[in-house]
Amino acid sequence: MENHNTKKLSHLLRARFPYIYIATYEEDRATKFIKEIVKDKSKIKYPREVFIWTQATGLRNEDKVISNTTAPNKLIEYITNYDKDSIFILYDFHVFFGNKQRPADPAITRSLRDLIPTLKTSKVRKNIIFISPDLNIPESLQKDIVIYDFPLPKMEEIKSRLNKLIVSNQGIDTSNLSEEDKEKLCKAALGLTMQEAESAFALAMVNDGKLNKDDISIILEEKMQVIRKTGMLEYIQSDMGINDIGGLDNLKKWLLKRNNSWSEKAKKYCIPAPKGVLVTGVPGCGKSLTAKAMSTIWQLPLLRLDLGKIFSGIVGSSEENMRKAISTVEAVAPAILWVDEVEKGLNGVSSGNDSGVSSRVFGTFLTWMQEKTAPVFVIATANNIDKLPPELLRKGRFDEIFFVDLPTFNERKEIFRVHLLRRLKDAEICAKVKPDDNKFIEHLAGITEGFIGSEIEQVVISALCDAFFEDRALEPSDFEKAVNNTVPLSKTQREQILAIREWANIRAVSASSKENTKEYTKIETEIDDDDNDKDDITSSRGGRRLDV
Ligand code: ATP
Repeated sequence: MENHNTKKLSHLLRARFPYIYIATYEEDRATKFIKEIVKDKSKIKYPREVFIWTQATGLRNEDKVISNTTAPNKLIEYITNYDKDSIFILYDFHVFFGNKQRPADPAITRSLRDLIPTLKTSKVRKNIIFISPDLNIPESLQKDIVIYDFPLPKMEEIKSRLNKLIVSNQGIDTSNLSEEDKEKLCKAALGLTMQEAESAFALAMVNDGKLNKDDISIILEEKMQVIRKTGMLEYIQSDMGINDIGGLDNLKKWLLKRNNSWSEKAKKYCIPAPKGVLVTGVPGCGKSLTAKAMSTIWQLPLLRLDLGKIFSGIVGSSEENMRKAISTVEAVAPAILWVDEVEKGLNGVSSGNDSGVSSRVFGTFLTWMQEKTAPVFVIATANNIDKLPPELLRKGRFDEIFFVDLPTFNERKEIFRVHLLRRLKDAEICAKVKPDDNKFIEHLAGITEGFIGSEIEQVVISALCDAFFEDRALEPSDFEKAVNNTVPLSKTQREQILAIREWANIRAVSASSKENTKEYTKIETEIDDDDNDKDDITSSRGGRRLDV
């Protein structure tokens, strides 16, 4: 296991933190990890005895069961009186810490608090470590319990377990499994607990009695299932590339420049690893599309985090959810974490009406963003910037804040081209409308001023639907009809768009290049002379026009 993690836990033990909480399903792995630290003289100077407690068996030291310790009050009494250097690992003690329906047991929390001075100052060194699958700390002990994030297994650990599995399953044909394939299989299993990884390998083996590089898909499928089950993270598979994004050249250029930022070559240039970007702006203009394309461009897995679910409390406590999500993404790293609609989950942070839970969880996320060493790039997307807490926008959180505005004329041309090329494939259907007909594309871009990207896509779909319904080839008029039937968002949500532009003018960089926004620079100069046009939504732009 990684040095950084052993160091951190040994420091907590040596600094006599009385209560350490490890939220994990992997109690065996976590216990083994603690025992290894305790055995290592360079980490823990004074040898300690390690006790394990469960409610079913009471306290155990190696094979010896300590009688009359199943009840928590008896257990605490035993720990209080024990006079040798020791560590007490308590499994599932969280059941006494209450939950939303039931308060914590006051007698137990009181006696735990009474025990603190003994744990901190007595001559013998004692710590208590709670290991539970759920992170659940009662309010009265919030300040006394430190959470230790137990990491998911790293590459070497998984590889060593896979080697053991291969040895113990002699009947499995591994003749086509090179060392490189093995690495790939293990890489695919990153993000799983050891037990999950083992099950995935076992599944791959029993599938056809062989283990080879073709089994990567089975492991990845298992991983997607496991990640989906968390309810907060989703593995997004995307075949969108840079050419699927029309316009947004500035943003695309920025992302392309940062490709391979974690490579050995980048290290030679001493380039700091990029932290992430915040992409805000008009809905339906390609923010999500950019996140998906990034994963293809950078060839990194894309995990979408649903902040709303983290805070909803539907699946576990918010704190636990956030920590689990972070540790899963770190285990999969290098990876891209896409925080979709970042403003959605953060309502409680500004309203403060959930006794600080949102602020605490959000704080965990911000600290992680600032301090993360794992190669995880965060792309946060937001529509409603009013709801974004200022802490999120402070310098140093994101490398850049981009604003995506209504597409310009040139950008509309590019977006039309993307969607026409994607859908107009059949020669008969396209007899009268060619997907690469520049003149027609210019015409379409000209009649769709104020349309957002998704409306442009809908124009193409709607034209195709009409032709399909009447069982005939596409006509240019199908597109014109679709345009005329659309009331663009820029009309229905004019005020909101103007407001976010104003916001973006100070805080964000335009996602479109200077070249693409030239027409607006010209119009804005004209507006200075003639104030009448000032409110026309298509005659101004949001975001600072910088070329990145
Ligand atoms: P929201 O915030 O409402 O989710 P968004 O900005 O994330 O909006 P997308 O989901 O990226 O918007 O866009 C919706 C769809 O519209 C995309 O899947 C794509 O088909 C089309 N689209 C939007 N913008 C572009 C663009 N710049 N180039 C090509 N297609 C686009």
